Amino acid sequence: MITRRNMLALGAAAFVAPLAMPNILRAQGSAGRVVIVGGGFGGATAAKYIKRRNPDIDVTLIEAQERFYTCPFSNLYLGGLREFESIGHSYEELTGEYGVNLVTALAEDVDGDAHTVTLSNGETVEYDKLILSPGIDINWGALEGYDEAAAELAPHAWKAGAQTQLLRRQLEEMEDGGLFVLSAPADPFRCPPGPYERVSLVAHYFKEHKPNSKILILDSKDAFSKQGLFTAGWQSLYGDTIEWVGLSDDGRVVRVDAEALEVETEFGMVHRANVLNVVPPQKAGFIAERAGVTNEGGWVPIKASTFESRQVADIHVIGDAAIASPMPKSGFCANTQGKVAAAAIVASLAGNEAPAASWTNTCYSLIGPDYGISVVGVYEAVDDEVVQVEGSGGVSPADADADFRLREAQYAVGWYDAIANDTWGTVPA
Ligand SMILES: Cc1cc2nc3c(=O)[nH]c(=O)nc-3n(C[C@H](O)[C@H](O)[C@H](O)COP(=O)(O)OP(=O)(O)OC[C@H]3O[C@@H](n4cnc5c(N)ncnc54)[C@H](O)[C@@H]3O)c2cc1C
Repeated sequence: MITRRNMLALGAAAFVAPLAMPNILRAQGSAGRVVIVGGGFGGATAAKYIKRRNPDIDVTLIEAQERFYTCPFSNLYLGGLREFESIGHSYEELTGEYGVNLVTALAEDVDGDAHTVTLSNGETVEYDKLILSPGIDINWGALEGYDEAAAELAPHAWKAGAQTQLLRRQLEEMEDGGLFVLSAPADPFRCPPGPYERVSLVAHYFKEHKPNSKILILDSKDAFSKQGLFTAGWQSLYGDTIEWVGLSDDGRVVRVDAEALEVETEFGMVHRANVLNVVPPQKAGFIAERAGVTNEGGWVPIKASTFESRQVADIHVIGDAAIASPMPKSGFCANTQGKVAAAAIVASLAGNEAPAASWTNTCYSLIGPDYGISVVGVYEAVDDEVVQVEGSGGVSPADADADFRLREAQYAVGWYDAIANDTWGTVPA
């Protein structure tokens, strides 16, 4: 029986083969060609929402990995609260249900004049509109001594996958009484509360399995997201297990010796770790630079109303790679930016104005399995800049009781399931 679902699946299957054929054939009967690089929070959402708004648009998603592992909830895996596979997602809904043409390859170059993307498999794909959602790359070389080889000894685990599994193994192998050192970067970086949730859940793991172990955070900043809530939570759940050293107290790490598991701070203090987690300086995924859309800082200036690059026409950049401050670099933001960019592109291909743009963000962080906190913001585009809607948002109350914290921890799980379902159509077991 031919149902709508398997018709779409057939359409998707028929779509894969013609990639090697002249692009002009692929364009026939289409309402436009959109190519998306990156099938994470931003890119997968944009692909789905373009198809939902107009199924006649050809959407090609170029993603380097066959399966996507989320950074959100990777800290729960590190803390022993989740299995690794529970943060993995497939692209079956996008290809089967929505007819998105998935190409598993690395996008290596973009020619903004010719409107083409060159792939690692030798193919060149044409686009009318291009969306880049490549996330971050590590800014290798920005921190002395920290290169790809060093990351195999002192993992960053700031892209979920093998790095995250390596860090978990190191934590498991560490003797009780050891010191876990996390070096946190200056702004801007992916997930402002991420380092502090990470130490919280490592502290939870230590409390259960290695109670004599300690945690030191060396920070290149003097303040961090949800700071008051984190420090109160640390005190209440873990006593003096976690020590935080800010920039003014010589917290900035300037050199890493990964072989020795040592870091040196600005004023020459050397700290030796048993497990060393370096969260290094970052920049937009390399394809953004190849496309000519990055600034001198390595991030992408965009027009807020559409997330189109300010430097190259018809290239929209969403997610962590874009400069969207005051929105944080979060999966939730990437997801809502994907929807707004999708609406703008569908409108533009039909010759219409983009609808008014607004976005939301909620970042939950777990301090313990039953202790959640959150920060919320609502944003809109004003004069093509992102601004926070006056009076919107805020953080969890400082004086909330244990039941409130428990409910926020439960909402965090609900949030993860909902956003995974919205983005990839998969709800973790
Ligand atoms: C420890 C940690 C915890 C976090 N927790 C949260 C949280 O609780 N809530 C939240 O909202 N956010 C959280 N985040 C932030 C979130 O992970 C990012 O903001 C989000 O992933 C950004 O989405 P993106 O689409 O920009 O990039 P990604 O989701 O990283 O997707 C990028 C994709 O592009 C692909 N790609 C890159 N370059 C190419 C190329 N050239 N060719 C082909 N494919 C390419 C990559 O393989 C990847 O799949 C957390 C981050 C960390 C590190």
